[in-house]
Amino acid sequence: MSGIFGVVSKGDCVETLFYGTDYHSHLGTEYGGMAVLGENFTRQIHNISHTQFKSKFFEDCKRMEGNKGIGVISAFDEQPIYLNSRFGPFCLVTAGLIENIEELMSRLFKKGISFTEVAKGLVNVTELIAKLIVEGDNLIDGIEKMSEVIDGSCSLLLLNKDGIYAARDRLGYTPLVVGKRKDAWAIASETSVFPNLEFEVVKYLGPGEIVLINEDGMVQRRPSRDANQICAFLWIYAGFPASNYEGINVEIVREKCGRYMARRDKDIEVDIVSGIPDSGTAHALGYAMESGKPFRRPLVKYSVGYGRSYTPPSQKTRDLIARMKLISIKEIIDDKRIVVCEDSIVRGTQLKNFTVNKLWDCGAKEIHIRPSCPPLMFPCRFCLSTRSINELAARKAIRSLEGHDIEDVSEYIDHNSEKYKRMVEWIRNDLGATTLKYQYLEDMVTAIGLPKEKLCIYCWTGEYPKPKVVAEDKEADSSVAKMKG
Ligand code: SF4
Repeated sequence: MSGIFGVVSKGDCVETLFYGTDYHSHLGTEYGGMAVLGENFTRQIHNISHTQFKSKFFEDCKRMEGNKGIGVISAFDEQPIYLNSRFGPFCLVTAGLIENIEELMSRLFKKGISFTEVAKGLVNVTELIAKLIVEGDNLIDGIEKMSEVIDGSCSLLLLNKDGIYAARDRLGYTPLVVGKRKDAWAIASETSVFPNLEFEVVKYLGPGEIVLINEDGMVQRRPSRDANQICAFLWIYAGFPASNYEGINVEIVREKCGRYMARRDKDIEVDIVSGIPDSGTAHALGYAMESGKPFRRPLVKYSVGYGRSYTPPSQKTRDLIARMKLISIKEIIDDKRIVVCEDSIVRGTQLKNFTVNKLWDCGAKEIHIRPSCPPLMFPCRFCLSTRSINELAARKAIRSLEGHDIEDVSEYIDHNSEKYKRMVEWIRNDLGATTLKYQYLEDMVTAIGLPKEKLCIYCWTGEYPKPKVVAEDKEADSSVAKMKG
């Protein structure tokens, strides 16, 4: 989904910007970038797919100077974008996911607008956003109009001589939070950035809210909208444990998820409770606390060199990381009945090949898989680069049970239905586990603690508020097709 960070301080901001951006490294694997405004803009972008942000940018910091800056860990394209516009020069970073890129490109091409950056055969999404913004009557108007025409979500930080404009996406899928310390203001995707940099949380931006932070403090430029659909998956999987969204801590939610699963698990006897690191660990701790069974670590992550295995865009890379990063401890596994808590099951192949099989190979007596969310039925269309629908384990099960793909999967979503039970049994059998029991949707929502209507739960139900897309031209023109080819 990408993570974004910005800071305005009384003195030089580069060191704070460097660490603040680096603390978003779990949210993207492709590009890192920083832009600073002192007398002029200075900007650095590096590919971080094979190295850490810190090592790539350490030397750059010595050449950057200024009291305000923005940074990004990008899951998709090169950022920050610099644009010298009719509103003056600015730099921009974005976080989110846009589905109608081709339609928007086509519209801008027809207006005679060109793009300089290319990403994955299309335009750089952040450049596209920048060019949509400058269509407005002013920057604020442009941000609002941009958010009306995109299909998906986009939170952003825009750096110019005024300071940093921070805008959270229209329905609040992705978070943004403002922090303050005595000599600086900051804005971040993750609150976990703040404690070590000595900031305190001042404000969680609401959906569609726009604020400006600068040397004088923070001013609201557009109020928050009522509708809120923050991504529930942030708490389950994507977010950092020390982060809070809407004031609700990730680690605590995961522990509660584990507790709810343990409460519904009165029919199995186990020896140890474990979790697949990193996010499965907190779910397992909750399960262990509720069940009274010991938490152990039969699979340990070699965390020195391996990040998450989900976000790298290539499946080959994800599989390689998944195979290498978890190392089994036979002495803990041998002859044990083990509960394995996991955040979710996406395709299921990594869980089968690199967890279940490793545990059997080390002599496990029983393996009980407990994902902390219901079966994933739909790929994300708002903020995460999730798999295609056909790859999802639940869809594979349905295809096998029905003999073909079906559109209406409502019966498979209802955990009381026979079809749901048959689907779960198919997945269990495919994984080779002793039992498989998914978290119920209502337990997951209760664990998060927000009303269901304030959460995005599209991954599990396919339900979402209708986007207000007001595109002028729905047909991609031939220039788009040529670029893709
Ligand atoms: S579809 Fe899923 S991953 Fe995407 S915003 Fe909604 S809950 Fe989050």
